[in-house]
Amino acid sequence: MSDLTIKKAIQLSGRFPSTLSKIGFNNGRNLYFSAENLGEEEEPEFVLTTNDLAITFAVTGDMTGMYRVNPDSIETVVSQDPQHTYTLKRKSLPLGCVADQANATPEQLLEQLVGFAYDEAKTVSEGELKGIGKDFSVLTYEAIVARFLLLKSLQSSTDIIPDQTHRTIFVKAGDGCGKACTFCPESTVPFKPYTIDQFIAELERTEEAMGNILGDKMRRMNEGFINISDVLRLDQDKRTDLTAAKAVELMREYFPWLEKIGSFVSSESALAYSRTGRGYTRENLSRLWETGLNRLYLGVETAHDEGSRLLGKNISYDQKLEAARLVQAANIKLKAIFQVGILGQGFYRKNTPRTRENFVTWEQVAERNADWVNAAQPYRVYESIHQELPGLAISDDRETLRIIPYAFPGQYERESQFFRSQIRLMRRGKDPIENGYHIYLPKERAIVIAA
Ligand code: SF4
Repeated sequence: MSDLTIKKAIQLSGRFPSTLSKIGFNNGRNLYFSAENLGEEEEPEFVLTTNDLAITFAVTGDMTGMYRVNPDSIETVVSQDPQHTYTLKRKSLPLGCVADQANATPEQLLEQLVGFAYDEAKTVSEGELKGIGKDFSVLTYEAIVARFLLLKSLQSSTDIIPDQTHRTIFVKAGDGCGKACTFCPESTVPFKPYTIDQFIAELERTEEAMGNILGDKMRRMNEGFINISDVLRLDQDKRTDLTAAKAVELMREYFPWLEKIGSFVSSESALAYSRTGRGYTRENLSRLWETGLNRLYLGVETAHDEGSRLLGKNISYDQKLEAARLVQAANIKLKAIFQVGILGQGFYRKNTPRTRENFVTWEQVAERNADWVNAAQPYRVYESIHQELPGLAISDDRETLRIIPYAFPGQYERESQFFRSQIRLMRRGKDPIENGYHIYLPKERAIVIAA
């Protein structure tokens, strides 16, 4: 296939961004880059094309996907999710780049595919290159596996790292949460903040291990995340000398090139952090922003007070709104997380008889959620499609029909569309509502899954 045909096919597929700049070529291989600069919100990646394949690489050098290109469609061979887990499609394997397809294990197939991609990358990097193409180099299979194992070892099984990409440096500042939210895996693990010494040990471990694998490419990881269920809770916990400001300061000291630093926050702790004798002030949060914290993820989950109470999140619509406004007044970008489908077709108010009067419908919940978004105007809204995770208290409310669960996948979509249709956001540019937050929830991580 000609270069033009292959470029057209990958752009038409919708899998790749529409802006692909050619930055190199050699011997029938072409190299493209998909974002103008590393500060873009869009995940930048290299796309290398051969006669009938497109292979994608993160800016850190990990192979992130391989696709068979047909003149009018794209078939996924292997792809990687935000938690660095590969999914391999045995039936789509390209001819000629894997040996003994029938008997090879998924790990062996993946190793061969990465090896093939690595050789192709070497070929193109020996050709004509311009701009960022001059820095193009990729990781070996061993380095990718080492990075995967490292990332796995740097987080607990219940940790959530939102917006995780290849460019995220996350450093653990505590464990668990232990609050009563009935749907959250962190509720089952008691809160344990790290001390300054423990946090420094995590920073050093991350810096050294990541540096060993990525070398200078580590400086392309420009997004930092302080991995804790509620960063401002550090300041309220007498067991630790680590504060939110100290954690941000240390992140900056170890990784001075970070453009973004974010973490989770709860409405309760944002209010406590901002409280004075005469009400609330943004001053403390402003100081935190000056230190370098520029993103906070707030789990609103639902803005419906009765729904919130049933989910164990005993904080009102107004308190959540006040907390959001304090964060925003301090210039910190607010990312608000909402659950879709968690209250199903509707629910009976907590501790009330199951009568018609006590039933709250999904539309009432979604309308209240949209009202909150319209009032708060967050920088970004994340929809998390409710996932049934084992061992959580919410299962009881669903089994006893206190919450009437959805019966069909289409009902989640209907709720999401309804919620979106009520939202009026003033911010322009990239769609500020994202539908995939649930992909960051804890799950069994594996280097390869064969499909
Ligand atoms: S939703 Fe947030 S506050 Fe509730 S248990 Fe989970 S991490 Fe804690």
